[in-house]
Amino acid sequence: MAKSSVDLVVKGIVQGVGFRPFVFRLAKELKLNGYVTNSGEGVEIHLEGEESSIDEFVLRLKKDKPPRARIDEIVEKDSTLMNLSSFQVIASKETKVSTIPPPDIAICNDCKNELLSKNDRRYLYPLISCMNCGPRFTIIKSLPYDRSRTTLSKFKLCKDCEAEYFNPTNRRFRAEPISCWVCGPKVSFVENGKIVKSEDPIGIAAELINKGEIVAIKGIGGFHLAADATNGNTLKMLRALKNRHFKPFAVMVKNIDFARKVAYLSEEEERILLGQEAPIVLAKKREDSPISEFVSPKINTIGIFLPYTGIHILLLEKTSSPYLVMTSANPKDEVISYKNEDAIKKLSSFTSHFLIHNRDIYNFADDSVVRVVDGLEILVRRSRGYVPVPIPTPINVDKVFGIGGDLKNTFAIGKEKEVFISQHIGDLSSYSTQRELKISIRKFLKLLKQDVKVVAFDMHPDYYSRSVAEGMKSNIKVEVQHHHAHIAAALASNNLNEDVIGVACDGTGYGTDGNVWGFEFLLSNLKSFRRLAHLKYFRLPGGDKAVVEPRRFAFSLLYEVLDKESLFNFDLGFSEKEKEFLYGMIRSGTNSPMVSSCGRLFDGISALIGVCSFSTYEGEAAMELESIADQNEEGSYLYDVSFKNSEIILDPSKLVVDVIHDLRNSIPKSKISARFHNTLVKAISELSLYLADEYKLKKVALSGGSFLNEILVKGVRRNLMSKGINVILPRGVSVNDSCLSLGQVVVASSREAN
Ligand code: ZN
Ligand code: ZN
Ligand code: FE
Repeated sequence: MAKSSVDLVVKGIVQGVGFRPFVFRLAKELKLNGYVTNSGEGVEIHLEGEESSIDEFVLRLKKDKPPRARIDEIVEKDSTLMNLSSFQVIASKETKVSTIPPPDIAICNDCKNELLSKNDRRYLYPLISCMNCGPRFTIIKSLPYDRSRTTLSKFKLCKDCEAEYFNPTNRRFRAEPISCWVCGPKVSFVENGKIVKSEDPIGIAAELINKGEIVAIKGIGGFHLAADATNGNTLKMLRALKNRHFKPFAVMVKNIDFARKVAYLSEEEERILLGQEAPIVLAKKREDSPISEFVSPKINTIGIFLPYTGIHILLLEKTSSPYLVMTSANPKDEVISYKNEDAIKKLSSFTSHFLIHNRDIYNFADDSVVRVVDGLEILVRRSRGYVPVPIPTPINVDKVFGIGGDLKNTFAIGKEKEVFISQHIGDLSSYSTQRELKISIRKFLKLLKQDVKVVAFDMHPDYYSRSVAEGMKSNIKVEVQHHHAHIAAALASNNLNEDVIGVACDGTGYGTDGNVWGFEFLLSNLKSFRRLAHLKYFRLPGGDKAVVEPRRFAFSLLYEVLDKESLFNFDLGFSEKEKEFLYGMIRSGTNSPMVSSCGRLFDGISALIGVCSFSTYEGEAAMELESIADQNEEGSYLYDVSFKNSEIILDPSKLVVDVIHDLRNSIPKSKISARFHNTLVKAISELSLYLADEYKLKKVALSGGSFLNEILVKGVRRNLMSKGINVILPRGVSVNDSCLSLGQVVVASSREAN
């Protein structure tokens, strides 16, 4: 029978996911000859054999692909028959890169079993990995994805590993990061800067944790500080050392059974916990949880995650507590420590105990954080496990770069119709983070081999990110309004390119009028927007100072509704002198920007009713207010809506008066909080419905950090959906400022495309 041949190029997530072994086995099964290789474009396959077998091969390629693979496109070309006598996997070709570097993957069940099987040659080998699991993004320097281009290149495979690597039937066939006791990187324990000779470095770390000590532990994307989560004294010490009073710590839990003892978990939450990304899941705390109150004080949620490397599994096998605080090890305002020597130096004020390994981390990556809200998986932080999987977009975004904002920074680069978002960089307030931003941009663009033609950034004139963007080599610079970027990110991540009513609620974003925006109703598409409605402006006395001191905004809210005497009689803990000072600032507008911010409104109410007067971490006042809300309370407060210069102004003054009234009548805070939430739900729903009707639109997009609030999202979604409105939120990216980079890329792309 006549033989034919074909060349295929498979694009998508096809490297580092077991694709070549799968192709090899499929070709063997169908008696086809030829070869398969990784290239810059994806996976290239040359096939020779009967035409019917080739057809079946293509069908099965799509149908039976490995679980972690994603096929975006198969390009089929005619080719020359070479009369090959076998099928082979050949070394990678380096060509134009258009493929996707894979994300880090939590340890798989097969590796877990080997790790704990006495007879396995990798028994207790903490850095165990295979084709289906282990580090990826954090160790890759460039593409195509090959061991030689990872930080494992300096470890030469031993005979046994090599045999596995070249055996097409082995589950480590062509698995780039594999290693073992004989040839691979090793874990060691460092005390006071010196390696301690030991057969069991993990045992030493566990012993110290059992004694109530803090140990720095290197994982996949950086270092954690680990401590027993049931030991209040240790956690108090850790909080003092980190100067972190209330911000919640994440807890690594030995397994899912123990997770159920500390949090109420829905099916969806369990699925996410057990998933290959292994993020931190923010779940509802159990009242009878054995975990110390110092883990997440004053809020009703707890962030938990499961062990995602061999190191974690072995550590939790040895600690007496199945619950360990594992918090990113970073000096205040710096990125997570990820280099051994650096960490040992910089973390010395926290601990002298280090569990390290010599598999270098090239790209750092914090743990990702997910919250399930009303059944929706909402990313709070998108980093390890998710980065750098691209977000498909409805428009061409090629070579457009977005630098994000100054808080919760990520940056992003477009490639054809996909946006690659960086790992979480963080708050750009320190020199160290600013430096890491620049280094990370360089590494990321090099990894993706992508040039930059257009640079987009936030309108804020004082953002550090903006200054970096403006300094980048590119002749096209595009300024994007903060909340437009939020809504554009919601649209693009849902693959939509159309008009919507966008509701952007967050803390701070620079507005086109120079004021601080943050409670905005926009008529928006990817290209442009118009402000239709917003929260009434209030003065923010002291600017940034009032952000960390919510009672200042409470004072400003009261200023609007009380006469001077009643205002001064209201106890927010200010001295008479402070009251005069604030009063003067607000009246004259001195150092008191005008803000229309949802985050500040939460702050103000939180302080007004005595929940949180000083904020020690971003969003604290709002989170604590949400935590105490009585879920059974159905009451709400009044608010006003008026027109001003063709914009609708939402005035919460009556709400403030109602809250004062409830306080005077000794209504419990839990009820006041619930009524406040219910009022916002009502106001957002009613205004959205009105505007959707006015502009004949059927979709409303919600974006911004305030939509991490479950009561808001649930309430608004239900109200709008019951009226036939489709509600979208950013999908696969966060709702908070880490989605700005994506939004900037799509806004700039649609503007530059004309
Ligand atoms: Zn594995
Ligand atoms: Zn080996
Ligand atoms: Fe924002």
